[in-house]
Amino acid sequence: MVIGIIGGGASGMAAALSAAEDQDTQVVLMERQARLGRKLRATGNGRCNLSNLRAGKTGYHGEEAGFWRFALNRFSPEETLAWFRQMGLYTVAEATGRVYPYSDQANSVADILRFALEKPNITVKLGFEAEKIRKTADRFRVESKEETVECDRLIVACGGLAGTGLGGSMSGYKLLRALGHHSTKLRPNLVQLRSSWGALPSLKGVRTNCAVSVFRDGELFAGGGGELQFTEYGLSGPVIFEVSRDVCQGGGDWTCRLDFLPELTGQTLTEELLRRKNTHLPASELFTGILHNRLGRVLTGEAGISQQGLIRDIPEEALALAAERAKSLEVTLTQPMGMDAAQVTAGGICTEEFFEETMESRLVPGLYACGEVLDVDGDCGGYNLQWAWSSGRLAGESAGRSKA
Ligand SMILES: Cc1cc2nc3c(=O)[nH]c(=O)nc-3n(C[C@H](O)[C@H](O)[C@H](O)COP(=O)(O)OP(=O)(O)OC[C@H]3O[C@@H](n4cnc5c(N)ncnc54)[C@H](O)[C@@H]3O)c2cc1C
Repeated sequence: MVIGIIGGGASGMAAALSAAEDQDTQVVLMERQARLGRKLRATGNGRCNLSNLRAGKTGYHGEEAGFWRFALNRFSPEETLAWFRQMGLYTVAEATGRVYPYSDQANSVADILRFALEKPNITVKLGFEAEKIRKTADRFRVESKEETVECDRLIVACGGLAGTGLGGSMSGYKLLRALGHHSTKLRPNLVQLRSSWGALPSLKGVRTNCAVSVFRDGELFAGGGGELQFTEYGLSGPVIFEVSRDVCQGGGDWTCRLDFLPELTGQTLTEELLRRKNTHLPASELFTGILHNRLGRVLTGEAGISQQGLIRDIPEEALALAAERAKSLEVTLTQPMGMDAAQVTAGGICTEEFFEETMESRLVPGLYACGEVLDVDGDCGGYNLQWAWSSGRLAGESAGRSKA
């Protein structure tokens, strides 16, 4: 039997390895780029957050709630790490559950998979862009501009639209739609939020702990806590990714409330600032020892306090206002960032059209899909790659087991 796999990213490589476990199965892995796992090599800021020990319990979204559960139970994070370990990859888990390669290099994950794919029954075709799939009575013909691959089973693992600079494209959606499948609305997720706050350029690169609440027309839309990073045009970092799903989509006035000191009450912070009135420190040092100095200066300015004078000369009400700004700063959010900046696509091919136990299409027997092309997206922190490994291996295993 020949199993064709379109897409040599995370889920496609996982599917190929599972399918090839049966020596009598021939696997043809088709990748349009010049290298396997190009996006994988850029994940986790080059560190690759390849799994999360908490994945499997919660952390996934899509119109069909719980479609992901079977794959995550069949190939759990623990089982996935053992699979990687068997291939030679050492990993380390952080207290948050996030798992990284011990080498701290995303390249090692991609390379370990690439080496594992060097098997007599796996053929890798690089630079092969599948443009058309033709279904004959019991086979598939996958056509690129130059070549045609024929197979008995076909797995579409083309990924999503997110990260367009790294190969994200509409290709997988188009190929599956042409075979009769449908797609939900595609939106960028795990993405920075754009803001019109004037202080952003001076805060660029500053990282801080923060509790974030996003409001739409004054009503709480999403919230979370963790690391926030300022960029020239907006807000980024894990806490922003966590709350970014569907923000600024579909109209309305969007704002974001930032609490830079969630562990302190407003009263404790005000008392601390008032205590500084007994010093000879300049006003520009009001938040020194509490917050990043650039952030402290911006918040001091937001309270209308001049940086030129001394803290001792600042009126008490102004110090209370500075404390309030640090505890509850409201910034306006503007339009969402595009797919190029997103880490994952929310939405995708409708999962109701697939069997969750096998990843096989309900519409086209012998056709399978896995990974981001489906309407499943995970939280920030290794959930998306875990979905790619689990769904890819389930698709590969199921396609390999089915009778040709
Ligand atoms: C910058 C960035 C950082 C990220 N960091 C993390 C992280 O740390 N942890 C985490 O869990 N997730 C992370 N993600 C998300 C994660 O990388 C993806 O969810 C995951 O790679 C999806 O796997 P996939 O196999 O479905 O798609 P991909 O890995 O995107 O692979 C799809 C492959 O199919 C190929 N392809 C597409 N169309 C065709 C065609 N017609 N013919 C042939 N080949 C085709 C593409 O070239 C690509 O190689 C990150 C994403 C980005 C963009």
